[in-house]
Amino acid sequence: MKQLFTIFGNPVAHSKSPLMHNLSFKGLNYNGCYTRYKLEDGRGLRAKFFDLNITGANITVPHKEEAFKACDELDAFALKVGAVNTIVKKEGKLYGYNTDAPGFLKAIAEFKEAKRVLFLGAGGTAQSTSVVLRDAGYTVTLLNRSANRLERYTKEGFKTYTFDSFEYQEPYDLVVNMTSAGLEDDSLPCPASILEQVIPDAMACIDVIYGKETPFLKFSKKYHKPTKDGSDMLLYQGIIAFEHFTSNAFSFKEIEPFMKRAFIF
Ligand code: NDP
Repeated sequence: MKQLFTIFGNPVAHSKSPLMHNLSFKGLNYNGCYTRYKLEDGRGLRAKFFDLNITGANITVPHKEEAFKACDELDAFALKVGAVNTIVKKEGKLYGYNTDAPGFLKAIAEFKEAKRVLFLGAGGTAQSTSVVLRDAGYTVTLLNRSANRLERYTKEGFKTYTFDSFEYQEPYDLVVNMTSAGLEDDSLPCPASILEQVIPDAMACIDVIYGKETPFLKFSKKYHKPTKDGSDMLLYQGIIAFEHFTSNAFSFKEIEPFMKRAFIF
């Protein structure tokens, strides 16, 4: 019987996930179909999941915290970070995972010497990725526009700054735009004066936004730094979600060439 999957979010029209997963189902001969579902109110996620009779779902902005609450069981990492972007139904129970963070970790693995990372932004994506990076041995510092979002990070022992309190004390190997600045506007994630201090000493500049050259990446290129957008993160979180959806019927390496095809369109 065909298994159904979807992405819940608002908006979802732009999402590449249906293409990524459907190309993989087709290429791997798996009887699955992946759609998109615009969900206005995240509190209805659990009921909708059962109504649609789906096997699995990805969850995107702004419902990752509601997705966390909707699950019966959480894997250890999702529990630790409080955000779920992948749900799989098994024997009537909803199991929740976070694949964004391991996806990001894999996306930066090519910068082998990198140890110190500066996150510009402290939202939901920074929340899970800061933890996965710290667990992997990186030192993460967070710089955010508003102070209130930084409180939980400070409590968890991360070094944090607002634009006003920022002091450049040590070089950062990677400078990462973890904000949505540049997604639908032309803004930089922080004042140019801060970027002018940190970028010259960095090994590379990375953006989690994909599919466009953001003002941040454009700015970084002035310093002839290697840059990377969020496409690999998107690809890798998708492959890890696909492993969960299919109960590990396929390996990462088997899924990768098919899912990657979504990025040539
Ligand atoms: P959140 O809404 O949780 O957080 C947004 C963050 O961006 C906050 O830190 C906010 O700061 C900051 N911000 C927004 N606009 C500006 C601005 N103009 N100037 C400075 N700071 C700004 O979003 P998420 O963490 O969920 O998502 C962040 C980005 O990650 C998005 O662009 C999203 O598309 C991308 N993403 C990419 C993925 C991929 O696979 N490549 C996966 C998941 C997310 P403040 O606290 O001051 O409001």
